[in-house]
Amino acid sequence: MMAASHKFRFVIDRLCADAPDAVSRPARGGRVGRERAGPEVVDVPADGPSCLVVGQDGKPRCVRPADAPADAPLVEPVTAGSQPELVLVSRAGRRVRVNGQPAPLVALVGDRDQVQLSEDLILHVTTYHEPRIGPPSDKEVGRTCPVCRTVITPQSTVYVCWCCGAPMHLEGEGRLDCARVVSECANCRGAKVLLKSQYTSLPEDLVHE
Ligand SMILES: [Zn+2]
Ligand SMILES: [Zn+2]
Repeated sequence: MMAASHKFRFVIDRLCADAPDAVSRPARGGRVGRERAGPEVVDVPADGPSCLVVGQDGKPRCVRPADAPADAPLVEPVTAGSQPELVLVSRAGRRVRVNGQPAPLVALVGDRDQVQLSEDLILHVTTYHEPRIGPPSDKEVGRTCPVCRTVITPQSTVYVCWCCGAPMHLEGEGRLDCARVVSECANCRGAKVLLKSQYTSLPEDLVHE
């Protein structure tokens, strides 16, 4: 399997403006302080389960289950259909809220879902994509581009679908530029073609500031 090109992250939203390091505290000039800082995020490890904990400093983070209290909710990235999702497991009677509702013991959450970790802490689920673009790997040479149906040669430059691994030409203007003419992968039909490093979603107020 190729290395995943998407990574789950939580974007942190603090409901209590007086919390230490509050991201929404207005800075001088009446502008909102987080504008320059970018979103406050937690990376979800891609390899195996981890636990969501809130540290002494009030910052949530993911740690290995062995290092977490027994009631810390568990998260693990999985691929369900064409979508990457997170399995979220509530433990020891501490039920996490998802999108304002108590979550089932085992919940699947994905892009744009909101996980409420404590009274004043909401985590927006998002993924960060880093596209795989470059010469095809040995495995990709000889495969057929799902857009133009010609064979991928070692001299090609390709974009690799983050979901199904299909290589598509990305050779620039005047050459085979298949990945640029489709918005979704022509092979798995559903996975967006994402040519830039980007968040698949961000909470509205962070995007439009
Ligand atoms: Zn092509
Ligand atoms: Zn695909």
